[in-house]
Amino acid sequence: HSQFQPLMDEMAPFLDRQYRAAPLVGFQLDADDAASCPVTCPWDHERTIGEVRWTTAEQTRQAIAVACEAFPRWDATPVEERAAILERFADALEAHMAELMALCCMEGGKLLSDGVAEVREAVDFCRYYAAHARELFGSATRLPGPTGESNELMLAGKGVFATISPWNFPIAIFCGQTVAAAVAGNTVLAKPAEQTSLIAHRVVELLHEAGMPREVVQLLPGDGPTVGAVLSGDPRITGVAFTGSTDTARLINRSLAERDNAPLPTLIAETGGLNAMIVDSTALPEQVVADVVASSYQSAGQRCSALRVLYVQEDIAERIIDTLRGAMAELAVGDPTRLATDVGPVIDEDARAGLQAHIDRLRSEGRLLAETPIDPATAARGTFIAPAAFRIDGIDALESEQFGPILHVATFKSGEIDDVIDTINARGYGLTFGIHSRNETFSRHVADRIRVGNVYVNRNIIGAVVGVQPFGGQGYSGTGPKAGGPHYLLRFATEKARTINTAALG
Ligand code: NAD
Repeated sequence: HSQFQPLMDEMAPFLDRQYRAAPLVGFQLDADDAASCPVTCPWDHERTIGEVRWTTAEQTRQAIAVACEAFPRWDATPVEERAAILERFADALEAHMAELMALCCMEGGKLLSDGVAEVREAVDFCRYYAAHARELFGSATRLPGPTGESNELMLAGKGVFATISPWNFPIAIFCGQTVAAAVAGNTVLAKPAEQTSLIAHRVVELLHEAGMPREVVQLLPGDGPTVGAVLSGDPRITGVAFTGSTDTARLINRSLAERDNAPLPTLIAETGGLNAMIVDSTALPEQVVADVVASSYQSAGQRCSALRVLYVQEDIAERIIDTLRGAMAELAVGDPTRLATDVGPVIDEDARAGLQAHIDRLRSEGRLLAETPIDPATAARGTFIAPAAFRIDGIDALESEQFGPILHVATFKSGEIDDVIDTINARGYGLTFGIHSRNETFSRHVADRIRVGNVYVNRNIIGAVVGVQPFGGQGYSGTGPKAGGPHYLLRFATEKARTINTAALG
């Protein structure tokens, strides 16, 4: 806790600030051509923290025209200049850490530790993609060929990208997608999630101050069915980098595919997960439970990587569940500005109602294993969900991802491990996966057979450090390439092979 105290003191003045978000575009906006909407704090509904002016469909189309016009000049800008903007932006994010944490807390309901991690990850993305862009776009790759001929491969931007982001990493993912698209030479229309528009607005202000031209990255706050759908349906959009739910990715995919007279699109989608962990009888219960609690309940379970289904070998199940009950009784749910809080609110009333309906159904079936008590006054003030764990038969009992602090526990017998893996693979999601075992042969066997993007052995399954654990899934969980990995920028680029008959030059 003590490491956060100085930041907390720095953050305090920003907690009461009022913010205004509006489109940040490369053309003049009329004064009052769109409605404003108040923004309230998810853990204290009596607090208003600002207001957002939404982008209209017409403004979205105008912004696309600006982006199209700006593309050739931006793509011809030396990569060194583009990369330097990302690095100045990274410095600005660091310098505004306290304010951005306060915004994450007030608008996104994030704990202080989560807020720090958000800003650091965004900074890492900027520096990593800046370095990679220099390597990839800095010079042409010479290729072997016959005498009298020169062959080279060059990378360039693809055109106009829309980046559509979720609310659960309102800085890290929003920045990561947006700066990757821009540094590769594309012009960008950034649509943040409705729920975290104030954060996105402050971040794009900093990006513009760092030297990113306003017509190269434009911010379009707005809802999915309006701004998002106009973007994905417009034939001038070359690609979409999307992070969010699997259902929305399917809608965007359909909308891109149905456009007439449009170039064949690029869709980079990073979507939901039904993430599982397998625990065999050689695992250490205390370590397992510490990692399960972190994986399922940190960030109130609102991480795409969060653990949803724990498979425990039968002979160790009782010990794990008893230890889990004890650990869950200790969690503190409440105000995320307090250092003692472990679990903050869920993002909004829609999310709360959906999660509560799932909890009520499982509880009425007598499946509750453990839950964390929550103070009724706290619960009444915001959108809180009491962390819970339920017994289920297996991953097939879950119809969809439940994006909150809910863990499901199933058991298996020692000879059944291959069936368990087959069932998880067949379910279709493939994001994160964990193994807890001290039997290396077992761990290796399971890790080799499971089809997911990120496997974690003997640790929690959340968290991915840029450049260290490139992150992203397969199947229902995403298209790849992995964010924070060496191949990510390539999907934003087009390759041009140039062959010159040098013999003709004499
Ligand atoms: P969401 O799908 O509801 O929304 C994501 C974005 O899509 C928002 O900006 C939204 O406005 C927009 N959108 C909605 N409808 C649209 C439409 N018809 N056309 C275009 N855009 C539209 O997701 P969310 O609730 O914001 O985020 C939570 C989800 O994101 C979870 O499923 C989580 O697993 C996933 N997620 C995945 C990753 C990953 O790396 N794989 C990371 C973070 C979150």
